[in-house]
Amino acid sequence: TQYVYRFGGGVSDGGSGDRNLLGGKGANLAEMASIGLPVPPGFTISTEFCAVYYDEGGSFPQSLRDEVATGIAHIEGVTGKTFGNAADPLLVSVRSGARASMPGMMDTVLNLGLNDETVEGLAATSGDARFAWDSYRRFIQMYADVVLELDHGAFEEALEIAKEDQGFTLDTELSADDLRTLVAEYKALVEKQWNKPFPQDVHDQLWGAVGAVFGSWQSERAKVYRRLNDIPAAWGTAVNIQAMVFGNMGETSATGVAFTRDPSKGDRAYYGEFLINAQGEDVVAGIRTPQYLTKTAREEAGAKPASMEEAMPEVYGELAAVFDTLETHYRDMQDIEFTVERTKLWMLQTRSGKRTAKAALKIAVDMANEGLITHEEAILRVEPMALDQLLHPTLDPNAHRDVIAKGLPASPGAASGAAVFDADTAERWAADGKAVILIRTETSPEDIHGMHAAKGILTARGGMTSHAAVVARGMGRPCVSGAGGISISAKDKVMRVAGREVREGDTLTLDGTTGEVMAGLVATVQPELAGDFGTLMVWADEVRRLKVRANAETPLDCRTAREFGAEGVGLCRTEHMFFDAARITAVRQMILATDEKGRRVALDKLLPAQRSDFAEIFEVMAGLPVTVRLLDPPLHEFLPHEENEFEEVAQAAGIDIDTLKRRAAELHEFNPMLGHRGCRLGVTYPEIYEMQARAIFEAAIDVAEKSGTAPIPEVMIPLVATKRELDLMKAVVDKAAKAVFEERGRTIEYLVGTMIELPRAALKAGEIAESGEFFSFGTNDLTQTTLGVSRDDAARFLGAYVEQGIYAKDPFVSIDVEGVGELIELAAERGRKTRPDIKLGICGEHGGDPASIAFCEKIGLDYVSASPYRVPIARLAAAQAAL
Ligand code: PEP
Ligand code: MG
Repeated sequence: TQYVYRFGGGVSDGGSGDRNLLGGKGANLAEMASIGLPVPPGFTISTEFCAVYYDEGGSFPQSLRDEVATGIAHIEGVTGKTFGNAADPLLVSVRSGARASMPGMMDTVLNLGLNDETVEGLAATSGDARFAWDSYRRFIQMYADVVLELDHGAFEEALEIAKEDQGFTLDTELSADDLRTLVAEYKALVEKQWNKPFPQDVHDQLWGAVGAVFGSWQSERAKVYRRLNDIPAAWGTAVNIQAMVFGNMGETSATGVAFTRDPSKGDRAYYGEFLINAQGEDVVAGIRTPQYLTKTAREEAGAKPASMEEAMPEVYGELAAVFDTLETHYRDMQDIEFTVERTKLWMLQTRSGKRTAKAALKIAVDMANEGLITHEEAILRVEPMALDQLLHPTLDPNAHRDVIAKGLPASPGAASGAAVFDADTAERWAADGKAVILIRTETSPEDIHGMHAAKGILTARGGMTSHAAVVARGMGRPCVSGAGGISISAKDKVMRVAGREVREGDTLTLDGTTGEVMAGLVATVQPELAGDFGTLMVWADEVRRLKVRANAETPLDCRTAREFGAEGVGLCRTEHMFFDAARITAVRQMILATDEKGRRVALDKLLPAQRSDFAEIFEVMAGLPVTVRLLDPPLHEFLPHEENEFEEVAQAAGIDIDTLKRRAAELHEFNPMLGHRGCRLGVTYPEIYEMQARAIFEAAIDVAEKSGTAPIPEVMIPLVATKRELDLMKAVVDKAAKAVFEERGRTIEYLVGTMIELPRAALKAGEIAESGEFFSFGTNDLTQTTLGVSRDDAARFLGAYVEQGIYAKDPFVSIDVEGVGELIELAAERGRKTRPDIKLGICGEHGGDPASIAFCEKIGLDYVSASPYRVPIARLAAAQAAL
């Protein structure tokens, strides 16, 4: 096997396609060399040797020694210097370079090849004794630290003392003689700690460094970094050995880092920093303040020290040309390291630059417009979830944060406001024009009005699909859920956390993107939905096959969804309309009625309200399909709790309060999620669904008559397990339709379908499709019932499950493709077999998750439905999935 690959001096044994073999750094050095850019010559020992190194117990086979000798000879040939030669020594750097970048995780040794003799040669050839002794001093210090693993504190101390002795503050004040003395001290330190003298044989130095770099792959910090970033240990690292070039050879030398475009805003401007007379680490170490690259940037910042453009105009011109070459060649924004040695420019590294969401969007659109990349490539360059950052106001990154607690990042965006502990106060204060943050132990449907009124929501309990999280995402409200460690007393209107108290009216700030809870006000910045965003969305729409709908039930949510490009409503949860203050009494009266007659009295009160809700939604969504789901949640969620609520209901229903309370007690359920909910409500109280169906059809005809375009309602039956349930409920809906059509003397088109959210329904999909005209996969419940994991209680243990690799991701966030996914695939297949044109969609929270959307594309669903603020994310993810 070949392990050594050369580059530089007109030779390139590898290229950017060899990232797996040569690591990112090595592959790109070879690539830069091959396109004629000035790269100091060198060679890469491939990642394949990393495994061999560990298998061989950390030793080097003769074949590798031979290959490395050829590599060194290559560098010597190009530079004209000789490794270990006392008169004109070759110095090299030894650096790691894995497939994935692991910034700062692994080891580097610079100035290797210096010893007591070659240092004199370097002094002579460079004409700068101070430089030579400083390089030797740095080399010993780095080698002692990285390779010999000695206590580096002692070296720092010796350096400090050397400066103090002379009353100096800067390293640069030390003279050649001072440094020579320091080198002697360093060597003594090595000998004392290591019991052996500092290696004078340059080949011993080299093999020591190579071993240390391969060894650093298994260091604790590298292991932790790999675990956090999903980098397999088997990948290994490569080692790059390269001729040293020096940015610290005086005023015509410099070193710097740069981006070919602004990585934070995305502007097409060179962006970076450099330091005159400095070595690489000095720029990042922050000891000296780096100077700007361009004159414009310097002027904008109001900085004094000359920019590179001003200080070294010629080399700057060369560098700018290299930036353009690199961008054209790699067709992406590059992150670069360079050194100028006595006016000669050298490129030390290039790679795709990391960037903010905003910059990613701008760069992708700009590059496509510049003709550098295709529209398809632009689509693939933007991480769908990153759009989230752009759609909500975000906290000013420069603002101070007084973080008092941390929870789950349940709904993105940032919000500040006065703390309130109940929904009614939230609504009242908001009506008075106050910004409020609603704080609850957990939320229930009764809190909806308060959640709507609030700028942000904080809960102590509940996971990513808890009520608070789902509703907040739907409304586009920032939400931090399950913030363990806080205790809330709604009664006393106080929240306690880590010895601090937040009382009603105190200002709080939430960051729904990170899950942070902060005391006081933190400034925010508004989103920009302008140009680039719209452009990329148009391109995405051109390539995607999956339709994107929204989960929305208020006209406001529907409008937001439409603005974000929703192509219909995939899930209108009608129960959310039942919590309106004006209606809740009638709803309660209906639930607590003991017979059909009593229920009908209450339902008659609800009918006009439901009808006008639907009419508004149909109007907003004119020309687009709207899936209305009939009542789903367990009835107990609507029950009154407080005395005055019971009184109101008793009065409205004309019965006594004790009877009412007895009835409420009867409705108690041990496991409401698996209890009297979904179509079970319709089976036992068909008049509820009948009223809802009537409201839908009356509204549809009203809108058709008013606007001339008839909406196409899709009536959806929840929690179906058997065909018979669907048949019974479909009969109720069809009967209501027939009655309304006769009364109004006109008909409209409609569909009746079902949610597939129980494993039995998925299995029996073939049969159910005989009656159902569409399926919408309710993956929240389907996940809950397939995994047997309560969606409301999962937060307590799912973290541990993900950590231990039982599930790769939270299955309530990203579809468990292997399990739940198999059920969906099977149901889609069986459904289609019965009814080839059956409409298939998904409306669980997964409808807004890019990985789940990719799965939906793979199995050929017709649409995904996501909360309004996720619609653009879904559009982009659907486009990526189609490419
Ligand atoms: C589901 O179960 O996936 C669904 C969309 O319904 P809900 O979340 O309202 O139960
Ligand atoms: Mg459901």
